[in-house]
Amino acid sequence: MFKLDGRVALVTGGNGGIGLAMARGLAQAGADIVLTGRDATKGDAARAEIAALGRSAAFIMGDLGTAEGCAALMEGAMQAFGRIDILINNAGIAARRRPEDLSIEEWNGVIATNLTSAFVCSQKAYPFMQRQGGGKIINIGSMLSLFGTSFGAAYGASKGGLVQLTRSLAVAWAADNIQVNAVLPGWIATEMGQAARAQIGGLDERVTTRTPAGRWGDPADLAGVAVFLASAASDYVTGVSIPVDGGFSIAG
Ligand code: NDP
Repeated sequence: MFKLDGRVALVTGGNGGIGLAMARGLAQAGADIVLTGRDATKGDAARAEIAALGRSAAFIMGDLGTAEGCAALMEGAMQAFGRIDILINNAGIAARRRPEDLSIEEWNGVIATNLTSAFVCSQKAYPFMQRQGGGKIINIGSMLSLFGTSFGAAYGASKGGLVQLTRSLAVAWAADNIQVNAVLPGWIATEMGQAARAQIGGLDERVTTRTPAGRWGDPADLAGVAVFLASAASDYVTGVSIPVDGGFSIAG
């Protein structure tokens, strides 16, 4: 039920952090992997790591900040293996600034990378998945899909938008056997997590104190849910947003 042999997964921002951890999980379940990102050095290392697991792997360098970049990436991914069964819209950036200090360029950059790219990549993947008889789309949200913070106007808007995008695509494409779901990670120790820890005073203590599990998440904590949502085990699950947060979002 959880096997992904013969499936091809595209993970945007898969050259490190949460994206690479999910790609590892999918590869261990049998999928071939297309990773994307802007940093080719990280991308080559990630590709080699997936190949060492015995799966076919490709890295495509590209910027998801524009619709043209997203379209080029999806074309490249299709050329790599001739199909896309699983799309994980994971690439993301943050602009940690109070709303009154946020420039329109920062706002547009965050919305384009985190939200618009997920829409465009999903739209480009749709005809292939439809022709193949089905597919899986997984959008990576955040705790800020649920909560507000003083430093997260653009990021929170993009991640909240992803939850609603997930529901809309799930309804639209359910009859095509395409399931669309979201994962909402808690605070995870990645490059982005480290940057947040450095910028937001007291964050480290707040995360460990408020999270019932008592620790930051590890990128590997996201692999299991990715395999579940990418596999036949979730064929009747669509439009949901699953927190993977050590209990952060349900703690009083
Ligand atoms: P990282 O910074 O490690 O990874 C972000 C990824 O996105 C990188 O692979 C990066 O590629 C890629 N990326 C960013 N901008 C672009 C762009 N314009 N075009 C193409 N690729 C781009 O962070 P995480 O692994 O932590 O984050 C992954 C996802 O998880 C993000 O969507 C983030 O918002 C979300 N998340 C993270 C949390 C955390 O605590 N870490 C908590 C909740 C959600 P490159 O390095 O090549 O630019």
